[in-house]
Amino acid sequence: MESGKKRSWAEPFKIKMVEPLKMTTREYRQKCMEDAGYNTFLLKSEDVYIDLLTDSGTSAMSDRQWAGLMLGDEAYAGSRNFYHLEDAVREFYSYKHVVPTHQGRGAEHILSRIMIKDGDYVPGNMYFTTTRLHQELAGGKFVDVIIDEAHDPNSRHPFKGDVDFEKLEDLRKKVGREKIPYVCIATCVNMAGGQPISMANLKKLREWSKEHDIPVIHDATRVAENAYFIKVREEGYKDKSIAEIVYEICSLTDGCTMSAKKDPMVNIGGFLAVNDEELFNKARNMVVIYEGLHTYGGMAGRDMEALAIGIEESVQFDHIRARVGQVEYLGQKLLDEKIPIVVPVGGHAVFLNAREFLPHIDQDQFPAQSLAAEIFVESGVRSMERGNVSKGRNPETGENYRPALELVRLTIPRRVYTQAHMDVTAEGIIDVYQKRDKIKGLKFVYEPAYLRFFQARFEKIG
Ligand SMILES: *Cc1c(COP(=O)(O)O)cnc(C)c1O
Repeated sequence: MESGKKRSWAEPFKIKMVEPLKMTTREYRQKCMEDAGYNTFLLKSEDVYIDLLTDSGTSAMSDRQWAGLMLGDEAYAGSRNFYHLEDAVREFYSYKHVVPTHQGRGAEHILSRIMIKDGDYVPGNMYFTTTRLHQELAGGKFVDVIIDEAHDPNSRHPFKGDVDFEKLEDLRKKVGREKIPYVCIATCVNMAGGQPISMANLKKLREWSKEHDIPVIHDATRVAENAYFIKVREEGYKDKSIAEIVYEICSLTDGCTMSAKKDPMVNIGGFLAVNDEELFNKARNMVVIYEGLHTYGGMAGRDMEALAIGIEESVQFDHIRARVGQVEYLGQKLLDEKIPIVVPVGGHAVFLNAREFLPHIDQDQFPAQSLAAEIFVESGVRSMERGNVSKGRNPETGENYRPALELVRLTIPRRVYTQAHMDVTAEGIIDVYQKRDKIKGLKFVYEPAYLRFFQARFEKIG
């Protein structure tokens, strides 16, 4: 079927193996949620009906990827699968050198350690939890330079991931280029709702970066989804392939960190890729300390093989159209019922706007956390909070950050669920919306020091 026309599409695969789901009662789910301290991260997977917690490592591998596992060369050094991965990174992402890591944060750790000095500033188009933490642990300070529209869940801006050059210039003038080791740019910004950056903005950033001699490091976790949005939204890209657009994006940056658990559809893995020889040598040296030898990082040979194949599959048009199309399908079902969600719908998830969904709950009583718990009890669908709990506390004041975006994320794994699962999900959320006045806020009973959203426990207020 040709692209462009608005007509039905179906998943571009057929199902070879199935994994049965457990159906549960409301009472059972209520008990599960209490046991989990109202934190969906603490639920047992087997109690979940439709799992939209994350798209990280939860995608279905293809038959080719599974076959790739059997080609694993588990040599300690110089595994054949590493060279296949290196070829794939060069061919599809343009970067010269690759250092495998156990997952994305392994790459962020190494990058931050080799590039950031104490007292540095790292501008980025919004933060990501692990990225910012590694920058801070290395002595840096994250500075948000995304356009204001990204913080407005109702703005219809087509490229909410764009950089605001006024903010970037302000920072450079204030602290000087020596204090800016690199600009950190995410494609399809997760925390903004899976919102893309435009090629025009990236090109402008490239000019800026050359002028001031400050490199650009790309969080490439969702680069293929971003490329799809550029193809359908940005002038001049309609006739380019997803692979060409992905390559062009990467060529405008100096290196990347990748969580291979997302776009490239493997269950575990990641890498750091750079063009600069000296930086590569430092990274390759550091990976030995924290991950493993530079030709496997944190990965088994078979996983590197599945990753190399997944990279190739991730840039196929039919795949990415169905992937983003399924997310849009769920979003549209909710919009039809006037449920407040972040618009435009992003590439990997639908984000419910918990501020508007539950206006009666103060942000320090964690409306998004509470809503995620309620959706699970109602429908067995697992989502997650992206708001005040995820953002954490300001280390200087000790107060919650109270971010502008207080969201519940419904993240769609790649190639796992069907449109019927999306229908059931939408129906559950619509039911919760009709009873929203009765939903109460939460308070902490346990608050971990780092990335608190993963392990925090809550109880209901009142
Ligand atoms: C998931 C993710 C990471 C971290 O990767 P892990 O594989 O979970 O360690 C970094 N950046 C973005 C944008 C992500 O979505």
